[in-house]
Amino acid sequence: MKSLWNDQEAAGYKSELAQRVYTSRLLGRDKSLVLHGGGNTSVKATTRNLIGENEEILYVKGSGWDLEFIEEAGFSPVRMAHLLKLAKLEALNDPQMVNELVTNMTRASAPAPSVETILHALLPHKFVDHTHADAVLAVTNTANGEKRIAEIYGDQVVIIPYIMPGFDLARLCAELFPKHAGANTIGMVLLKHGIFSFGANARESYERMITLVDLAERYLDKQHAWSLKHADVKTPAASIAEVALLRSEISRVAGFPMVMASQRDARTAAFIARKDIATISQQGPVTPDHVIRTKRLPMPGRNVDVYAGAYRDYFAQHNAKSKEPKAILDAAPRLVLDKSIGMCTLGRSMKDAYIVADLYMHTMDVIERATLLGGFIALPAQDIFDVEYWDLEQAKLKKTGKPLMFAGEVALVTGAASGIGKACVDSLLARGAAVVGLDLHANMHKRPDFLGVRCDVTSATDITAALEAAVRTFGGLDMLVLNAGIFPGGTAISKLDDAQWRDVMKVNVDANLTLLRSCHPLLKLAPRGGRVTVIGSKNVPAPGHGAGAYSASKAALTQLARVAALEWGTDNIRVNTLHPDAVFDTGLWTAEVLTARAAHYGLSVEQYKQRNVLKTEVSSRDVAELAAELCGPLFAKTTGAQVPVDGGNERVI
Ligand code: ZN
Repeated sequence: MKSLWNDQEAAGYKSELAQRVYTSRLLGRDKSLVLHGGGNTSVKATTRNLIGENEEILYVKGSGWDLEFIEEAGFSPVRMAHLLKLAKLEALNDPQMVNELVTNMTRASAPAPSVETILHALLPHKFVDHTHADAVLAVTNTANGEKRIAEIYGDQVVIIPYIMPGFDLARLCAELFPKHAGANTIGMVLLKHGIFSFGANARESYERMITLVDLAERYLDKQHAWSLKHADVKTPAASIAEVALLRSEISRVAGFPMVMASQRDARTAAFIARKDIATISQQGPVTPDHVIRTKRLPMPGRNVDVYAGAYRDYFAQHNAKSKEPKAILDAAPRLVLDKSIGMCTLGRSMKDAYIVADLYMHTMDVIERATLLGGFIALPAQDIFDVEYWDLEQAKLKKTGKPLMFAGEVALVTGAASGIGKACVDSLLARGAAVVGLDLHANMHKRPDFLGVRCDVTSATDITAALEAAVRTFGGLDMLVLNAGIFPGGTAISKLDDAQWRDVMKVNVDANLTLLRSCHPLLKLAPRGGRVTVIGSKNVPAPGHGAGAYSASKAALTQLARVAALEWGTDNIRVNTLHPDAVFDTGLWTAEVLTARAAHYGLSVEQYKQRNVLKTEVSSRDVAELAAELCGPLFAKTTGAQVPVDGGNERVI
């Protein structure tokens, strides 16, 4: 492990707090030190308050902040004097501790201070750094971890036996640290938890962390427990139907839908193929920040091995910006290791699922290295239970709000790169769904809950590939928005040739049949029932001159949707159709076309756009919002319906 300190960069951070920000970010950049809001840092500084008194303040990382991206605002300023008094108490339960920390800050808008705040206050050094370094965990989580740590560090660190984070841990450190610290002490190792370093300035504290972790890495290397060799595993991959079934079953156990990411790279495949996987995957977490609840997942009808562990999603709960309730106490796993599916991670959002995946990638390293050292030992079972049920977590659970309408669900939209399709993607994302966008053209969003797939919907091969990607990325399919279509421009029937007719039918009808047929087995597995929204056209109830092929194609599609509604009712799949009209904010309607059409009717562009009963403009967004709502609970009892979105059309009414 190498120090990332850079004099030039560091010079840009002037104050002590700014220096604290800089080295905290350096720690955050190395994922083998801290992950997703894990770890914490602090600095003690004297500041002058409003009434002119000097106060000693502990600036400690606040919850909801990630060290890699932390700013000065991410540090909670807590009065040192009060913290030191608290540390002298015999006992302090977690809700009391949280209350004392929050009510003794000097900035009301600051985030809640870390649960390890009192511990930071007790260490008699200006700068304190704390990580859950993989290398240190690989050493401490073994049978003779304590002996090994003593061997690696000698009198450079004080060793603290494992105890759950919180007031009791701070008390234990307060007792043991002064007793064992000497002139050479530059850190403190918390067995099965992590490591602290400290120093007089930001650089010293940071570089001591690097030095200490580097020593652990070198030790592992010397014991041939550092570089991991992975066998090449060739197990046939499960079908997407099996993947979707697994996600459906787990959502059923949870009582709400969850998205499921799956990955089957060489590294995870090798881990899952280990002979001792049943043992090592069932032992528990490597540190209290990575808690997994382990249990066998009963999967009737599946003949693959399933080892399941539920991560208590510690970090996501600390994310103040998250509105998601973390239903940590349900029985459903958040992690599944399956030989033919790979490593599957689940959550109410893709962000949560990816956090679990990141944590477990590091967990695998720690477990394999500890195994090479002679045997991995996780936290004691009682402590895992304690961490899951501890007061602090309960308090946080109460604070979380209502989930978004489509949290944990997956939608697929065709023609997703522009117009109504693009708007549908946005409306579904805004309601918490993970969205797969199919389009001929390159796709638009770069976010964990969006997957853009280049796809020609008239190609069955392209559709198969798109569904493969969708299910392996998000775990299944709950909603389908059939939007892609072409409007070839006005051609009278007397001039309409077979080729144009067939082209329109191919995209507007045939492709949608292929999509419906291919998505049906997946929609059947949707935990809340499948939903299909078809984008039809006003031309179905009120066809226009010159739109023979288009009107006929949309009418055929509408009829197909009605039959699907009939046939799929017993599969709990709802199918509804929207008939938009005069949606001018799409690529079809350039300024020139608009001006020409308006002139044709002797109207201004403005008048032309509002040529309907309500004298209103219809936007892509209007259509998309209704398309999304049709999939939501308001329409839970509606299927086979056709709803106009046209501002009112006299020929339709
Ligand atoms: Zn910690």
